Amino acid sequence: MADLMEKIVSLCKRRGFVFPSSEIYGGIGGFWDFGPLGVELKNNIKSWWWQTMVQIREEVVGLDSTIIHNPKVWQASGHTLSFTDPLRECKSCHQRFRADQLKGEKCPECGGKLTEVKQFNLMFETFIGSAKETANKAYLRPETCQGIFVNFANVVDTIQPKLPFGIAQIGKGFRNEITLGNFIFRDREFEMMELEYFVKPGEDEKWFDYW
Ligand SMILES: [Zn+2]
Repeated sequence: MADLMEKIVSLCKRRGFVFPSSEIYGGIGGFWDFGPLGVELKNNIKSWWWQTMVQIREEVVGLDSTIIHNPKVWQASGHTLSFTDPLRECKSCHQRFRADQLKGEKCPECGGKLTEVKQFNLMFETFIGSAKETANKAYLRPETCQGIFVNFANVVDTIQPKLPFGIAQIGKGFRNEITLGNFIFRDREFEMMELEYFVKPGEDEKWFDYW
């Protein structure tokens, strides 16, 4: 399997689909650039998705919200507290592992002792304001749907949709994954295509089946 993945990664590079980000400076784990063919493929998928999910559907509208929200958004959604993975670090080689993926009590790389399990928040932190000491901590969004939820009232007030209706968004998301792998299937910066579909209470099963 690892062998096959290596072949796919190198084929994608040779054909100009996906390159490792910052490659001439040693690369950067979990970040990938889309090359000349990759960007065309990605744009085709995005525009097909937008056409079929938003433009031809009367009950779905689009949105393009910011990557950085007021941090209160992530408190309200529970991400500040619980958007975490269990983390253990090797006391010898300092590699970090997801506790739920470890087998046994020793470092799989060097056999060293591991720290206790800590909860590691996967949101990338950044700072708003010019002086870092007094600036406000903020986060790069780990998902696009919170931008939809916090604009729910704006959309209802302006478009006045009838239930059921949907709000869709395409955009970047960021997750500071502890362990990487599987090429662009688990990376730290990625693009999401997301639809939130709002229905009358009690009709959720029906609409779930419909989709
Ligand atoms: Zn180790």
